[in-house]
Amino acid sequence: GASIRIRNARKSYGTTTVLEHLDLDIEAGEFVTLLGPSGSGKSTLLNAIAGLENLTGGTIEVDGRDLTHVPAHRRGFGMVFQSYALFPHLTVAENVGYPLRIRHLNTRNRRARVEKYLQLVALDHVADRLPSQLSGGQQQRVSLARAMVFEPRVLLMDEPLGALDRNLRQALQFEIRKLQLEAGSTVIYVTHDHDEALSMSDKVALLNGGRIVQVAAPPELYRNP
Ligand code: ADP
Ligand code: ADP
Repeated sequence: GASIRIRNARKSYGTTTVLEHLDLDIEAGEFVTLLGPSGSGKSTLLNAIAGLENLTGGTIEVDGRDLTHVPAHRRGFGMVFQSYALFPHLTVAENVGYPLRIRHLNTRNRRARVEKYLQLVALDHVADRLPSQLSGGQQQRVSLARAMVFEPRVLLMDEPLGALDRNLRQALQFEIRKLQLEAGSTVIYVTHDHDEALSMSDKVALLNGGRIVQVAAPPELYRNP
């Protein structure tokens, strides 16, 4: 995983400021949650780290390199969204293999890596099906495997379990952690669910009104605001 250093990030749309004076340090391999109420700026911050949105001001460094103006596809990050965003015409295995194909991994290595990650999310038995033939939970597992299969140095997740029921959420929380350890990625995970943030994270960054109001390991959160 990579370390991330955000300094004085700002984002405004016209006269509306949605992020201001925002600093955040994330260590290599850490699992950090952005927690806060709806509208607090979590997705905006995540999208800025992804390179999907430009900051109005401030910098984002990854492993000491300034990536503020590097486009999303050149950052080499994995992303998982609440909507699974799978390719409907590709099989499960082809979806998972896609990031390796565009990175020109040869077919043999690709197949081995796809098999490994399909096994990790317990989907090896549906490798040749289309996404439309799977349940929501299975589709999100495919999306997770596709985001992890190239072992990205940074993995960004925006409410990845938001569309799933409670039991499935808990099962997948566990799988996400397992995958993270396997791939060694640094994870930034957006949620508005306290329990989820507390159970998954090494560190929680609490957002409110476009600012980070506290950064703490789960046991210290709220204790010392
Ligand atoms: P969260 O993810 O915490 O729910 P967001 O980052 O989605 O918050 O949004 C933060 C604030 O920015 C909200 O008030 C939202 O309405 C505003 N916002 C987001 N995108 C835009 C946009 N394209 N234009 C104007 N305001 C926006
Ligand atoms: P190509 O993409 O060159 O046409 P294939 O059709 O054999 O190669 O496979 C497409 C992608 O899915 C590749 O990444 C391959 O490794 C992977 N793949 C296909 N079928 C399976 C499967 N049943 N189990 C694991 N990986 C598979």
